[in-house]
Amino acid sequence: MIIAIDGPAAAGKGTLAKRLAAALGLPYLDTGLLYRATAKRVLVAGANPADEQAALHAAQSLTQADFERPDLRDTETSKAASQVASLPAVRHALLEFQRRFGGQHGAVLDGRDIGTIIFPNADVKLFVTASVEARAQRRWLEFQTRGETVPLAEVIADVAARDEADRTRAAAPLIQAPDATLIDTTHLTADEAFARALEIVQTRQPV
Ligand code: C5P
Repeated sequence: MIIAIDGPAAAGKGTLAKRLAAALGLPYLDTGLLYRATAKRVLVAGANPADEQAALHAAQSLTQADFERPDLRDTETSKAASQVASLPAVRHALLEFQRRFGGQHGAVLDGRDIGTIIFPNADVKLFVTASVEARAQRRWLEFQTRGETVPLAEVIADVAARDEADRTRAAAPLIQAPDATLIDTTHLTADEAFARALEIVQTRQPV
């Protein structure tokens, strides 16, 4: 079974996807990490995240250690991830890995283009979103927990800018697949979002 979870930044996709994967006994892939790790390699090499050749080389050179870096979620890397993700060569280089991952034993994958491009025939497609304020507030709390003090207004601006870039890019823009079910988590707890998602999965695909 393939479960595709797409949606904008900090909508709660990762938390939901992990819980669904655990409940259903499926592997989980955070596809955003592929773009974050690529972006980090570019930044560490002192190259420009908008440079397609440099970003392609980084995407083709990824190793396990790149995914284990503790600094993949900082603001600079998030922005650079969105930049490398807009480059068709980078998306192409990372596509096969995602399909192979899901093709082995099924999977829950979260990202921006899972239900539209990577697995257009996914068994279940969810589009998880929330208001930009609610999403930024959650991201801000994550920063606080990690001891990073960033003004909330700055987090709102960063999240909104990344959404805009992801929605308006030419290559695999963030859009809700026509056959995806919308879950708006603005007024839902993580438990409520999970219960709703599980209900959708079980209706589509009796387990
Ligand atoms: O999901 P996350 O916020 O970690 O993703 C980081 C960035 O990677 C996103 O802003 C988006 O530009 C890109 N991304 C993508 N396609 C995916 C997953 C992430 O373009 N499937």
